[in-house]
Amino acid sequence: MADSSSELSPLAVAQGRGGGFLFTPVAARPFTTPEMFSPEQREFFRTGSDFEVKEVDTKIEQLEKKDNALMRSLVGRAGELGLLSVDVPEAYEGMGLDKTTSMLVAESQSHYGSWTTTFGAHTGIGTLPIVFFGTEAQKAKYLPDLATGRKVAAYALSEAGSGSDALGARTIAKLSPDGKEYVVNGGKMWITNGGFADIFIVFLKIDGDKFTAMIIERGTPGFTIGREEHKLGIRGSSTTPLIFEEARVPAENVLGEIGKGHKIAFNILNVGRLKLGAFSLGGMKAALEKGISYASERKQFGKAIASFGLIREKLARSAAQIYAAESMTYRASGLIDEVIARGGAHGGSESHAAVMHAIEEYALEASMMKVAGSEWLFQIIDEVLQIHGGNGFVEDYPIERAYRDNRVNRIFEGTNEINRLLIPGTFFKRAMKGELPLLDTTSDIDAEIDNAALMPAPTGRLAAEARGAEMAKRQFLFVARAAAMLGPELEQHQEVLAALADVAIEAYAMDSMLGRTLAQAADEPNAALRDALCRFFCMESRERAMTRARAALSSVIGEADVGEQMARLEKLYRYTPVNAGAVREPIVEALLAKGRYPLDY
Ligand SMILES: Cc1cc2nc3c(=O)[nH]c(=O)nc-3n(C[C@H](O)[C@H](O)[C@H](O)COP(=O)(O)OP(=O)(O)OC[C@H]3O[C@@H](n4cnc5c(N)ncnc54)[C@H](O)[C@@H]3O)c2cc1C
Repeated sequence: MADSSSELSPLAVAQGRGGGFLFTPVAARPFTTPEMFSPEQREFFRTGSDFEVKEVDTKIEQLEKKDNALMRSLVGRAGELGLLSVDVPEAYEGMGLDKTTSMLVAESQSHYGSWTTTFGAHTGIGTLPIVFFGTEAQKAKYLPDLATGRKVAAYALSEAGSGSDALGARTIAKLSPDGKEYVVNGGKMWITNGGFADIFIVFLKIDGDKFTAMIIERGTPGFTIGREEHKLGIRGSSTTPLIFEEARVPAENVLGEIGKGHKIAFNILNVGRLKLGAFSLGGMKAALEKGISYASERKQFGKAIASFGLIREKLARSAAQIYAAESMTYRASGLIDEVIARGGAHGGSESHAAVMHAIEEYALEASMMKVAGSEWLFQIIDEVLQIHGGNGFVEDYPIERAYRDNRVNRIFEGTNEINRLLIPGTFFKRAMKGELPLLDTTSDIDAEIDNAALMPAPTGRLAAEARGAEMAKRQFLFVARAAAMLGPELEQHQEVLAALADVAIEAYAMDSMLGRTLAQAADEPNAALRDALCRFFCMESRERAMTRARAALSSVIGEADVGEQMARLEKLYRYTPVNAGAVREPIVEALLAKGRYPLDY
């Protein structure tokens, strides 16, 4: 954190930390929003989008036949355009740019799930372990080829017997008697890019117990690639097992410290989760565009179906989710960039540790974006498929493929169950260390419950929505304190942890979209649209938050106290009536006028 933090109050310090939004009033601390993107960042997004539209989307039919050579050539082409090098330092033919640019590039590669997965595995979980944990020699050897797409990377953590329980890996390595090589035996499963990658980041146990990462190259004696999986979706991407039979890996290929592979595995997954949020955001926009187009053209009962209220509701809800997801995604990347900038990261290996530290700081946000991104994307695709009626169910329309392709997002990069557990898990760890002021804040909340005059009473633009966001944060903290009373037993109450995660996600979403909107002038051309997006989203979000808070509290309070505690929780809930039919109209009109999500970068 910044040196200056020592001059700040503990609450102010906590507000700038991962999870700090729970302690910060709406719009009290400015954060990065899409309106602040620099011309260079916008240019990267445009380059990425042009590439995807012209060079990827046009080849989908061929790629769906699993043309690995074509897919591989697209990685090379993306490399020529600089799309693979954003996170790689300049010293290794990269550009070493900020995380916001990296997220924008990810968002730009999200129309076609097979390509998104290939690109994401290469640029994120495949390349970044070497960027963050490689020795100078490893970086010099591998990064120039990965940054330019001359070589392709893969990340191999999962095994047949260990997916969520990644540390249960059974692949083992033993040092050869001359100390020059590791002899590796075992196997990996579901490895993206397996069919054509050149460089694999493989997690295994040295001597059967020291969990460690290794760089293993294609062509290593004893290392073979299994047959392609036949998948529900992302059929154009390559997913294979890896087989190691007495494979001989040079000893210098150990990545990071022996026995510290978990640091690499989990930190890299944090980046993967952030990026999955950005990929999902782009997917949401692409799906909504299909929905708008179909709803405008399809006629029933003598009218375009876009004129029917229930179709308009689906379109408006999707756009509101997109606005929220955009606000959350770039807020998180901006926070990471701020921490990196304050840490003075300029490219040396120390600064890579600073980058890793900054990303770890926002692990809670990364998990929230992974869960929200993957689930909202799937909800939007599902609604757009519904807008297509029977046509949505046949292969002639691309929404059918999108439906299959995007199901996997809830499974990889840590399943959504695991990420839901991580959200409150990370929160409680920080609260226990005193890094997040749970107890101080909840005593203030108690005072507010006892004296309603102390409750925050936002006024002016989006006041009801801001109050909804404030209440959701209080609901989270109130229930979290009750849950913490269970002590170590809380781990056994996964339903409570998941419900808490859901309240946190709703609070982060509302807080982010409101903070972004209130930072824009009330008379700028899109102000009415932004307000409507916030109203629509918050109207539903604050109800979801309270439902999940009630569910969590009911499961942690004993029968004797549940009535009283529930009554106290109810004081942290304000029902605000909204005319849902009216609030959606400015959104739908903007969508139909533009033919897509209307706020451009
Ligand atoms: C298309 C595809 C591409 C992939 N690419 C890669 C890749 O490139 N590299 C890589 O290493 N892996 C990859 N994976 C693997 C992926 O990361 C795993 O499938 C995922 O982590 C889940 O592990 P699993 O399949 O073993 O499920 P399991 O861990 O067996 O989980 C099964 C179910 O149990 C739940 N569960 C498990 N543990 C808990 C718990 N403690 N509490 C509550 N619920 C729990 C899970 O959420 C899930 O619903 C890929 C998978 C797919 C399908």
